[in-house]
Amino acid sequence: MTRHMETLLPDKIDALFINCHLATMADNALAIIEKAALAVTGKTISWVGKEKNLTENFKTGCPKIIDCNKGWILPGFVDCHTHLVWGGSRSNEFEMRLNGATYEEISKKGGGIFSTVQSTRNASKNELFILASKRVDALLKQGITTLEIKSGYGLDLKTELKILEVIRQLDENFPLHVEATFLGAHALPPEYQNNPDGYIDLVTQTMLPEVKAQGIATSVDVFCEHIAFTLPQTKKVFETAKNLGLNIKLHAEQLSDSNGAALASTFNALSCDHLEYLSLSGAKKMAQHNVAAVLLPGAFYFLKETQKPPVDIFRNLKIPMAVSTDLNPGSSPVHSMTLILNMACILFDLTCEEALLGATINGAKALGLELSKGSIETGKDADLVVWDIDTPEDLCYLVGLTSINTVMIKGRIHHTNLCK
Ligand SMILES: [Zn+2]
Repeated sequence: MTRHMETLLPDKIDALFINCHLATMADNALAIIEKAALAVTGKTISWVGKEKNLTENFKTGCPKIIDCNKGWILPGFVDCHTHLVWGGSRSNEFEMRLNGATYEEISKKGGGIFSTVQSTRNASKNELFILASKRVDALLKQGITTLEIKSGYGLDLKTELKILEVIRQLDENFPLHVEATFLGAHALPPEYQNNPDGYIDLVTQTMLPEVKAQGIATSVDVFCEHIAFTLPQTKKVFETAKNLGLNIKLHAEQLSDSNGAALASTFNALSCDHLEYLSLSGAKKMAQHNVAAVLLPGAFYFLKETQKPPVDIFRNLKIPMAVSTDLNPGSSPVHSMTLILNMACILFDLTCEEALLGATINGAKALGLELSKGSIETGKDADLVVWDIDTPEDLCYLVGLTSINTVMIKGRIHHTNLCK
C-alpha cells in the first residue's frame, strides 16, 4: 500500500493547489505525484492526489484556488539544528584567519566563542531579537517552515534564559514553527575555566530546573568533545534532563570519537549531530534506539574538515539522515538550506533524494515532529512550498537559484510571487 493513496474528497476545503507536481517525501522517498492537486482545510492537508480526479464541483466550490504554473510543491524545510540567537560579529575573525592567524592567536585577541558569549551577555533582549529576526527572515525566504534554535552563548543562568526568551519571541512573531533547545553545556564559561564539574553542577542543579519550570525549551543538548564536556559530564546533564522529562540531543563525534552517540542512544535521544568520527558500534546503538543522524556540511566546509560522516553505515543501518544549516557565527554562518543541500551532495555524497529527505521528513524526525511535519500527507500540517523548478533535484543542483513562488504555513499563505 502506498501512503499517498488518494482518500475521499473532503466536504470542506479552504484552499486548493492545482496545476502542480508533488514530491511528498512520504514512505522515505521523493514519492512523486505528477499533475497533482492538493487541498487544505484549516491548518491541515485534507487531500492529495491527481488533479484529474477532482470533480468540477469540487473546484468551483473552493474559496481559494492557487494555480502553480506546473511548479513543484514540497513540504516546507525543517531546519533542525541552529544557534541563530547571538550578539556581536565574528567577520573580523574570518579575515584574520584568511590572513594566516591561528585559532589560538584569534582566541588571545579576544575572539572565538567567548567573544560571542561576551557580546550576547552584553546585548539586551530586544537587540538580540532584532539581530535574530534578520536571520529567521532569511531562512523563511529559503523555504524553511520549521526551525530549531539552541541557546548556548550565555553560559550563565541569566543569559541562557534571555536567549530562550528571545527564541520564544521569534516563535510568536514569525509564522514558522520554532523549537527551543537548551544548550547550557555548549562550552566552559571563562569564570569556570578551572572548575568544569562546578559548571555542570550549575547546569544540572540551577539552570535545567529553571528552564523546565519556565517551559521555554523542549530539548536539552550538550557538546560532548575533548574541547568541551566529557562523557561523564554529558551523562550527568542527560540524567537530569530525563528526570525533568525533556528531550535529548547531542553534538557528538564532531572532532573525535568520544562515544557520545552510544551514550545519547541509551537515553533515547532524538538525534546525534555532526558524527564525522562516529564508530560502527556507536552507529549500531543509534539504530537500535531509533536515533536520527543530523549531518552538518556547513561546519565541515567552513572549518575545512576532511573526515566525512559514515554515510554508508547510516544507509546500511537505515538510520534516518537529516541535514541542517547549523547556522552559527563560529563554524557555519550559512543562511541557505539549498546551499546546504548542495554541500550534503558534494561533500558527503548524499543523493539529491537523501538530501531532500534530510531537509524535510528526517529533519522533522530529529525534532520528534514527524507526525505533523516534514511530508505531504493527509492530516499533516499544511506547511508547503511551491518552487518554480523543473525537477526536485534542481533544489540541490542549481546553486544560488532560490525560486520560491509560494510559502504556506499551517494553512496560511505568507509569501507569493505567482503571476496571475
Ligand atoms: Zn551545533
